[in-house]
Amino acid sequence: MKNEKDLLKLYDECLDFWGLNRQLRMTIEECSELILALCHFRRGRKAALDNVIEELADAQLMISQITRYVGEDKVKNMMDIKSNYINSELNKAKGIKEKADGV
Ligand SMILES: [Mg+2]
Repeated sequence: MKNEKDLLKLYDECLDFWGLNRQLRMTIEECSELILALCHFRRGRKAALDNVIEELADAQLMISQITRYVGEDKVKNMMDIKSNYINSELNKAKGIKEKADGV
């Protein structure tokens, strides 16, 4: 399942077969598992990185299905807005840090 076309077909089939409500619940579950894996990784648990990788993949697969449902263009547009904001905040923070360091 490496190409984008096959993945999009899979997302649509999952939504059609299991329905939105079940896929929303699975998205919540997978995001919860990712949160827990990140907490364990921060605490330096053994094998935590492998678990983070697995849960990132699980969560991303579910998020991609919900993104497909609500409309990929809408999510991409919002990501543009949010990433521009993050970029602006990063530049502001760097400016503040540069002033504090006397650069
Ligand atoms: Mg999982």
